[in-house]
Amino acid sequence: MTPDEALVRTNDRSHVFHSWSVQGAINPMPVAGGLGAEFWDYDGNRYLDFGSQLVNLNLGHQHPDLIAAIQHQAGRLATIQPALANDVRGELARLVTQAAGESFAKVFFTNGGADANENAVRMARLFTGKRKVMAMYRSYHGSTSTAITLTGDPRRWANEPSDASVVHFHGPYLYRSPFYSVSPEQETERALEHLEQTIVLEGASTIGAIILETIVGTNGVLMPPPGYLKGVRALCDKYGILYIADEVMVGFGRVGEWFAYQAHDVVPDLVTFAKGINSGYVPLGGVIISATVSEFFDDRMFPGGLTYSGHPLACAVGLATFEVFERDGILAHVRDLGDRVIEPIVTSWLEKHPCVGDVRGTGLFWAIELVKDKSTREPLVPFNASGADAAPMAAFVAACKASGLWPFAHFNRTHVCPPLVITEEELRRGLAIIDAALTSVDAAIA
Ligand code: PLP
Repeated sequence: MTPDEALVRTNDRSHVFHSWSVQGAINPMPVAGGLGAEFWDYDGNRYLDFGSQLVNLNLGHQHPDLIAAIQHQAGRLATIQPALANDVRGELARLVTQAAGESFAKVFFTNGGADANENAVRMARLFTGKRKVMAMYRSYHGSTSTAITLTGDPRRWANEPSDASVVHFHGPYLYRSPFYSVSPEQETERALEHLEQTIVLEGASTIGAIILETIVGTNGVLMPPPGYLKGVRALCDKYGILYIADEVMVGFGRVGEWFAYQAHDVVPDLVTFAKGINSGYVPLGGVIISATVSEFFDDRMFPGGLTYSGHPLACAVGLATFEVFERDGILAHVRDLGDRVIEPIVTSWLEKHPCVGDVRGTGLFWAIELVKDKSTREPLVPFNASGADAAPMAAFVAACKASGLWPFAHFNRTHVCPPLVITEEELRRGLAIIDAALTSVDAAIA
């Protein structure tokens, strides 16, 4: 080990307190650098980044245009407080609302996704005068107080109780349907019926918002079946509830659209974003606000704010992101790679690999669900498994890393969500590594 690497390891283990971890049980790998779809360690081992870090690095590592934007903005105005007007902040807000669609008017900028969701809920509560918020099981909305309460996965459990006015419901998930459905149409119909019953039983007069990840991300790339989101929109309209689309993970090109709801012919009232807006080069998130909701605050104070709301360095990278997307045809590239390369390959794994139970996704956003037994659909590891229970997935992850791929793994799934700038050659190479690692899982369950 080089002295440089040794120092990184020592400082990290001695002084850095890590997210979501038993501090004494982790050993984070020191990263020496990255470029495009790859990053590498101090020994020169290179990894294809199939998780885009935390699904934020949409334009890849060290994109020259994003770096230049930071350098340029740092030289002219490195920071300015949010109560003043600023050129890059205003221009980015204009572009974001334009990309979101004509019913949107303004953007409230935040530091990331959790505080975007906190503030969207705050707006919805004030606008409707109703406090309760409904969110899905199998969802992630962030780790701050209301956002972690909205979250429908085990990360919420240790944080309870927090926001008392959150109610969870089941969303569609055809492969493990909570409604015993056998077709997408049935899943849509039954999931909407369940949602409406929950609204009625909870009291429509108490519910201010429903928040949904347009495509559920970390909890499984759960694709909404045809008609589901339109049905949610209709229920919101029927009962005077605001529809908040959490696009923190899927917004800004992940699925080949500016926003994922645009492929579902629906228009939410509030849209939250972060990650892909500027690939996380400088932290940035926000809420895109419909004209109707934003006008409500024309003659009322909005009781919320952040020191770094609309930070110019972060906004400058956002502007550069829009330029790169347009110039390099990123949205079309994502759709092409998803349709032409990923879909046929991962679909073939359903036949080829006994351990592959389901594959689903779109664009550069796919999940491969690993099972012990295809006929019973028993997951390769139990829900929320850790330690010895999680060993079969840990072995899969280790096999990928040993072959030069850094996989995204969650429970019994691996997700394919590389930077949107990945080349076809890199994508095919990465998928071949996953294919080989799945063969070793097949052997282990045989
Ligand atoms: N919402 C979704 C769908 C996310 O995937 C995440 C983060 O992974 C968040 C919200 C929280 O974002 P942040 O970590 O920037 O607070």
